[in-house]
Amino acid sequence: MKGTFPIDKFRTLDTPFYFYDTELLRKTLSTVNAEAGRHEGFVVHYAVKSNANPKILNIIREAGLGADCVSGGEIEAAIKAGFAPSGIVFAGVGKSDREIKLALDKEIFCFNVESVPELHVINELATQMGKTARVAFRINPNIGAHTHANITTGLAENKFGIAMHDMIQTIRCAEQLGNVKFIGLHFHIGSQILDMNDFTALCNRINELQEELAQAHISLEHINVGGGLGIDYQHPNHVPIPDFKSYFDTYAKHIKLRDGQKVHFELGRSITGQCGSLITRMLYVKQGTAKQFAIVDAGMTDLIRPALYHAYHRIENLCSDEPAEAYDVVGPICESSDVFAKQTELNKCHRGDLIAIRSAGAYGEIMASQYNCRPLPAGYTNEDLI
Ligand SMILES: *Cc1c(COP(=O)(O)O)cnc(C)c1O
Repeated sequence: MKGTFPIDKFRTLDTPFYFYDTELLRKTLSTVNAEAGRHEGFVVHYAVKSNANPKILNIIREAGLGADCVSGGEIEAAIKAGFAPSGIVFAGVGKSDREIKLALDKEIFCFNVESVPELHVINELATQMGKTARVAFRINPNIGAHTHANITTGLAENKFGIAMHDMIQTIRCAEQLGNVKFIGLHFHIGSQILDMNDFTALCNRINELQEELAQAHISLEHINVGGGLGIDYQHPNHVPIPDFKSYFDTYAKHIKLRDGQKVHFELGRSITGQCGSLITRMLYVKQGTAKQFAIVDAGMTDLIRPALYHAYHRIENLCSDEPAEAYDVVGPICESSDVFAKQTELNKCHRGDLIAIRSAGAYGEIMASQYNCRPLPAGYTNEDLI
């Protein structure tokens, strides 16, 4: 089974380009809202870093989600798209003075602070501006997620967050500062996580830390558990919407909340991943000595995940129903890692065929570069192509 696409429209467009199915995005968002909405105190933010296309941001804002930003540029993009500053959280190990001042000026909901030096700088800048910054501390829970090493973030060896044994001391430090207000803890253990046990492990860790805090008479209003829910890259047509029910139910079942506590989520990939495809044209079918290469006009500059993580993306030939053959699907970039798939089965390819590289809605367009002086591809939605 292949996805359904407006191929006649596609034929008239320059390739490569990103194509977004807004109907699927809206369905995904209503599933998120329905499943999170079944649990008291669950608040969902969208991780802007997965896709900041203004049309996508607009639809997500309409669905009522908050925004999780990791740079000043993302804060600006979110506000431009109409997200209320009161629903914006700001994470990142290296927030610059300019970014901190921007966030203070906009009075965002919360800084997810990743070190004591950062806390001092936020306090200092907030003092200068006559503001009080709400802060949560990002704690490194030392939990491994069953995902690619490059997208694991919650192990002691990773650069992110504050060590658990420094937690109480860091909170005490915030209590001494005049222009920051401690409101909670933040966690994020990694991305493309499909094993719910990883999230259960995080809940168990949070429960332990809450016990420790209770003994120190420290209470939390907010617990932010980050994002990381994965998508089915193998089966974008059969599983277009991730299992949000299991995801939120896992948290509801395992996290032990105190009275009035809110649980915040920061979902990126699971919201935008499946609604996007990278559409590219077949330039040449080249017979190599041992295999055949399908050379397309998109490259690692337009979708870097396969080159960066050896990530799998399903590839479909939208113009051929001829028997499948095995191809290495490669781009035109002067790098040996510019490969989308090795020995993958595609309906027999010809020059000019349109090819869809699926599940490219997250960490696709936003990670595009101009390496080799290539122009950045356009991003269209189905609504643009009517
Ligand atoms: C990347 C990131 C997210 C989103 O991760 P997904 O795997 O796309 O859901 C959430 N929170 C933080 C702090 C992040 O860095």
